[in-house]
Amino acid sequence: MATNRTFTMIKPDAVKNGHIGNILKDINDGGFKIIAMKYTHLNAETAGQFYAVHKERPFYKDLVEFMSSGAIVAAILEKDNAVADFRTLIGATNPAEAAEGTIRAKYAKSIDANAVHGSDSDENAEIEGNFFFSSLERFA
Ligand code: ATP
Ligand code: MG
Repeated sequence: MATNRTFTMIKPDAVKNGHIGNILKDINDGGFKIIAMKYTHLNAETAGQFYAVHKERPFYKDLVEFMSSGAIVAAILEKDNAVADFRTLIGATNPAEAAEGTIRAKYAKSIDANAVHGSDSDENAEIEGNFFFSSLERFA
């Protein structure tokens, strides 16, 4: 059964390129409510932990290096059917294949620097939200 929360990061490329405001506007316009949010950064260790599920993939080392290369914005978002609807809002992993109007189509430059992260399941949304936020840091 679909639950109502997902987790996102605005990645270092989008932060560096000045897209935080536009991406948050798209998230709000998409009907998502922000439950928790922080401007922070990952280092090699914490990025490695966050993306541990990909550690056997050929792009893992580059992914960890990229995700620890600058500031990010982490947030927990709420909406009915949040995980699937958010992945629709952000578009395909490769921005060249992302549908017109999606966040990655508008703000991402490449498959590795692809502007935003979105959880891929309810279970991972919970794990990823807990990775960044304690219960004291959530609105509800
Ligand atoms: P994310 O988990 O960041 O929301 P995703 O779920 O669309 O993205 P995943 O398969 O989980 O895609 O891959 C995680 C991240 O690893 C991607 O967002 C992308 O930055 C990077 N990545 C995935 N595939 C490749 C690839 N073939 N080459 C380079 N980087 C890749
Ligand atoms: Mg993923």
